[in-house]
Amino acid sequence: MALERTLSIIKPDAVGKNVIGAIYNRFETAGFRIVAAKMMHLSTEQAEGFYAEHKERPFFRALVDFMTSGPIMVQVLEGEDAVKRHRDIMGATNPTDALAGTLRADYAVSIDENAVHGSDALESAAREIAYFFTEEELCARTR
Ligand code: GDP
Ligand code: MG
Repeated sequence: MALERTLSIIKPDAVGKNVIGAIYNRFETAGFRIVAAKMMHLSTEQAEGFYAEHKERPFFRALVDFMTSGPIMVQVLEGEDAVKRHRDIMGATNPTDALAGTLRADYAVSIDENAVHGSDALESAAREIAYFFTEEELCARTR
């Protein structure tokens, strides 16, 4: 296993539920280090660009409207096997399929408003991290 970085987003529904700290606690308990973080309220253009891979999907407009409906927390998590382990902690895209104890089982209400985002592969993680953060904004956590 290798030390990896992955992009995590706490979506507007979860920010609205005031569970940023609860979700950060899950990340830290799982052994991830948060190496960058910012709160943002995405513009339509930013949300469309981030989810460009889905632009032909029937849910694209609803997804962009949701992701721009309120502030989000965006963070870079670092840890062993981070991409897959973060996906495991998140749970399935549709919360009705998410295993008990996952973030989506606990905080999501529907597939449209499913609390969190996580990169699905190392290549998408690199692209998504660069979409929101400059190299200088990624803080090494060596102490
Ligand atoms: P993820 O990687 O688990 O977030 O899932 P995807 O990359 O497949 O989809 C991105 C986001 O689009 C999901 O997190 C959902 O919020 C939304 N989404 C995916 N599939 C559907 C769907 O069938 N219907 C709706 N309404 N939203 C969806
Ligand atoms: Mg995805």
